[in-house]
Amino acid sequence: MKHISSIAFLLMITLFLSFLTGCQSSSENGKAAEDNQQQPIIIQGPMPIEAENFASKLEDVEEEKSGNFVFYKGDVNDYPVIVMKTGKGMENTAAATALAIEKFDPEAIINQGTSGGHDPNLHVFDIVLGKRTVNIGSLKTGDRDDGEGIAPTEWKPMDLMASEGSAGEDPDAENIRYFKGDQDLLAAANAVKDTHEEGKVVEGTIGSADVWNNEVDRIQWFHENYGTSVEEMEGAAGAQIAKAYEVPYLGIRTLSNNKVNGGEYNPDTAAANQDYVYEVVKQYISTQTQ
Ligand code: SAH
Repeated sequence: MKHISSIAFLLMITLFLSFLTGCQSSSENGKAAEDNQQQPIIIQGPMPIEAENFASKLEDVEEEKSGNFVFYKGDVNDYPVIVMKTGKGMENTAAATALAIEKFDPEAIINQGTSGGHDPNLHVFDIVLGKRTVNIGSLKTGDRDDGEGIAPTEWKPMDLMASEGSAGEDPDAENIRYFKGDQDLLAAANAVKDTHEEGKVVEGTIGSADVWNNEVDRIQWFHENYGTSVEEMEGAAGAQIAKAYEVPYLGIRTLSNNKVNGGEYNPDTAAANQDYVYEVVKQYISTQTQ
């Protein structure tokens, strides 16, 4: 009897030890899977027409919502890509960008969509790669007393990132803050320029604000003073947050309208831009997985 129970005891110990080893190897496997996990590329688009075309190109899509934001999580060529519908404007874009970075730890972010032309040499369906992105709504007015009127062309740029002190008092804050587009994303975008047949693809400066400028003189003022190629309502907000987290970022904007040369609004530009951005993403993936 004693003999039998010691055999049973040995058996139990063996089973327990093999259970422990099993646990260890499965947790090692879990760790390896975690290490191998690729960080996703995030594609942002403000309006349904600026996100859904790309989302429909993803494989194995899962939809996730957070607040007003919709994330389409899928794959392009077996690489994780998340398309986000951010909603319009700077606030939506900043919040959505911070949320996406915290949630998904992205490899890179492309903010894309439509825009209005500031450069007379650019036409509807042309595409601007944001070598630089700038907030054109961050301005300090001149000092004018009661009855002295308003003079927007005297307004100075205000750099929100200049210091932690008063933007109103600090003369260092009176500079234009440009956010640079990521070099690797730019290289990928330049490499597939020719796939966009409806217009040309150029590097330029994207200006953003929660403002739709329809005054041609004001548009020209931004073009001359800030070097803007196009304006839209999101790019600089995403760029500012991506910079805060050091996540590679690029704006890619098609001209859906150009008030400066009479280019009428054409919503089909949004889908054409996403077709091009899809080529950029495939190119970028091929350089990341080499
Ligand atoms: N006119 C369009 C509405 C566009 S709403 C329509 O009727 O459907 C604004 C969106 O378009 C923003 O996401 C902004 O990024 C982009 N946009 C396009 N052209 C613009 C312009 N000229 N000025 C500012 N934003 C513009």
